[in-house]
Amino acid sequence: MLPYYYSVSEYLKKTYGHKLYKLSLSGGMTCPNRDGLIDTKGCIFCSSQGSGDFAVTDIDKAKSVVADKYSGNEYIAYFQSFTNTYADADYLKNLFTPVIMRDDIRILSIATRPDCLGTDIIELLSELNSIKPVWVELGLQTINEDTARYIRRGYKLSVYDEAAHNLNQAGIQFITHMIVGLPGDTTADTVATARYIADSKASGIKIALLHVLKDTDLYVDYCAGRFSTMTMEEYFQIIGQILAILPKDMVIHRLTGDGPKNTLVAPLWTADKKRVLNALSHYLKDNNIYQGKDYEHRL
Ligand code: SF4
Repeated sequence: MLPYYYSVSEYLKKTYGHKLYKLSLSGGMTCPNRDGLIDTKGCIFCSSQGSGDFAVTDIDKAKSVVADKYSGNEYIAYFQSFTNTYADADYLKNLFTPVIMRDDIRILSIATRPDCLGTDIIELLSELNSIKPVWVELGLQTINEDTARYIRRGYKLSVYDEAAHNLNQAGIQFITHMIVGLPGDTTADTVATARYIADSKASGIKIALLHVLKDTDLYVDYCAGRFSTMTMEEYFQIIGQILAILPKDMVIHRLTGDGPKNTLVAPLWTADKKRVLNALSHYLKDNNIYQGKDYEHRL
C-alpha cells in the first residue's frame, strides 16, 4: 500500500478495522444528459453503460461477482451506472432503504450529478445518512467551463457549488470526480480543479486519467487526431502536483482509471493497474512527494 496518500482502503481499515468490498449496482435510472432533458448524447467519454460497465441490479448477484476476490461479508453498496438520483424521492426511498437496512451493507454510495439533488432528495439522503453513512459521488471532471462544454457535462460550475453547499449543510459526505488529461485543460486547469474540489469540502476525490473507450464520441475525436492521451510520466507529474496540494485528511478514492479492457483504446499502459500503482509509488518516493506537502502553503 502506498504511504504517500490517504487511500480509501486505509480509510476503511481505520474506520471499520478491515476492508469493505464495493458492489457495483444499477438503480434502474437513466441520465438527464442521455434521455434528452439536457442532451441525448451524454458526456463525451461516457460509454453506453453510463459509466457502470460492471453494474448489476441485484445485491446477491453483485456479491457472487466478487466472491472469488473477497471472503468477508461487509460491503459498500455502490449505485454506479448512470444518474442514481434521477427519479422522484419515493422511488429512491423504496430503492435505497432496503439496501441500507441490510446487515451486510455498511455504506451506501450513490453516483449522481449535482443537478439531480433537489431539496427532497437531499432530505431523503439525510434520513438515510442517519441510519448508515451515505456517500454521494459527483462527476465534476473540470472547473474549466470551455472544457466542460466540450465534454458535454451539461451543467455550470455554480450548480456544483450549490450541491456541495447543500450536502455540506446536511452533513452528507461527498466525493468528487475529476479527469486528468481532458482536451483543452492545461496542467494549471487540472491542478486548479483539484484545489477547487478540496475547497468545496469534499470528503474524498476520485481522480481518473482520460481514457478513450471504443463506443464513445471521444473515440471519434481521438481517431481524428484532435488530441492525444498522456504518457505515464506526464500523468505521474500531474498526480504529484495534485497530491501535494490536497489536505492530508482528504480520502483518495481513485488515482487511475479502470476502463473495461475490451473497449479501452488509449492509453493502453493503464490496463495494468498494479504496475501503474507500483511505478507511481516509486515516482512519489523518488521525488519526495506526499499528500498535503504543499497544502499549508496555499492556505
Ligand atoms: S452524467 Fe454520467 S451517466 Fe450521464 S452522460 Fe455523463 S458520465 Fe454518462
